[in-house]
Amino acid sequence: MVKTIWIGDVQAGKYDDQEVELKGWIKRERGSNKMRFIVLRDSTGNIQCVVKKDALGEELFQEVKNVLIETSVIITGVVNADERADGGHELIATAFEIIGPVNPERPFPINKESLEAEDEDGEIMPGGSEFLLDNRHLYLRTSRMTSMLKLRSSAFGAIHNYFRNEDFIEYQAPNFVTGAVEGGSTLFEVPYFGRTAYLTQSWQLYAEAAMPALERLYTIAPSFRAEKSRTRRHLTEFWHAEMEMAWATNDEIMIHGEGVVRHVARTMLEEQEQELVSLDRDLDLIARYADSPYPRMRYDEAVEILQGKGVDVEWGQDLDYSKEKILTQDFDVPHFLTHYPKIAKPFYHRVDPDEDKYVLCHDLLAPEGYGEIIGGGERTWSEEEILARIDEEGTPREPYQFYIDTRSYGGVPHGGFGLGVDRVVSWLAGATHIREVIPFPRTSRRVTP
Ligand code: ATP
Ligand code: MG
Repeated sequence: MVKTIWIGDVQAGKYDDQEVELKGWIKRERGSNKMRFIVLRDSTGNIQCVVKKDALGEELFQEVKNVLIETSVIITGVVNADERADGGHELIATAFEIIGPVNPERPFPINKESLEAEDEDGEIMPGGSEFLLDNRHLYLRTSRMTSMLKLRSSAFGAIHNYFRNEDFIEYQAPNFVTGAVEGGSTLFEVPYFGRTAYLTQSWQLYAEAAMPALERLYTIAPSFRAEKSRTRRHLTEFWHAEMEMAWATNDEIMIHGEGVVRHVARTMLEEQEQELVSLDRDLDLIARYADSPYPRMRYDEAVEILQGKGVDVEWGQDLDYSKEKILTQDFDVPHFLTHYPKIAKPFYHRVDPDEDKYVLCHDLLAPEGYGEIIGGGERTWSEEEILARIDEEGTPREPYQFYIDTRSYGGVPHGGFGLGVDRVVSWLAGATHIREVIPFPRTSRRVTP
């Protein structure tokens, strides 16, 4: 049963003039009483199959004529190279077998009309209508979604490769936790045998506990945040690539942030050129993201630029998306923003010893209006400083006792970052909304299917 011949390879010219057996699903079909043109799809591409009544005989041809979209079939035939055919090849069928039929009373619900329906805000965005979100399990088969999922797979592979090549050790943290990383407002509460636990917002605190053991560690795991606002860049369950590194400054950590993002862009170009083209992505742009250094800018400079553009922003505010968007309009590659005001950041960010109104942190902002893809920096690492920062913030010490302990036994300078994998894929793929790059998006409005 195992499949050995792929449509992508047929279209690449590997089987010209040979008889092959193609397994797949019917994407489109049309034709006459004598001849049918069936576009067959598999995970690697599409090919038109020409099915003639003469070749199959009356009875089988009738079956082919009645076949419905998304029926799974095995079509045997001879590969014919023809410039006029989509992809450069067609299959002249010699045999046709239906494997999984489609019930004529419930034809495949996704069609041109439903693909062009408006979403709840009256906008037409790929896959955005309530109908398509309800039928997400079927929408996954569309070519756009398939391309997105392939890009996503390359991104995950590239992140693992990058960190492993740099001698980072993969490390897993629990998903049930009791302390917040990102602040209480976006915590998901979970009943936990008479107690309250939360779904983790980040791997970071538990990674810092292992930092004295492993020194360089990373993960790719889901993080959960009860983001109530509806934006095109927030999921409630997203995939978070995080790293933690002992003996490192903010500058040294940023080298890896830049390194991993450039490696993802390079890998997508190498592995998924065809998918990027089918999504209308400019390959030169992705090459620029892969090859160019990412400039660094201090928060103060960003505020000045924004004020120069007439944006209402005051020193000390965190820069939300509306401001990131304006700032990144002039960027041609991602830029790091560093040295945010201490008052804008939680206790674990290390205060700049040179100027204590700043913390040694960074955000990486992607161009084309995509905004933040990485947040990171140095951690407050001495016991004395961490206690002072927790108290100053009014955060209870108790849930963080294990975290404080890690400083009490040989604390060292260290830091790390979190990268939103879905956001990076969304940006590199040119997606209109973050939900385009994850198979079953979870947002404040949707946990089904
Ligand atoms: P934002 O201000 O955009 O909500 P954040 O400052 O809350 O981001 P961090 O806590 O620094 O983000 O998280 C690290 C990274 O995780 C972010 O740079 C982003 O790429 C990603 N991320 C954070 N929240 C989400 C989310 N709700 N959905 C998808 N990705 C997210
Ligand atoms: Mg957030």
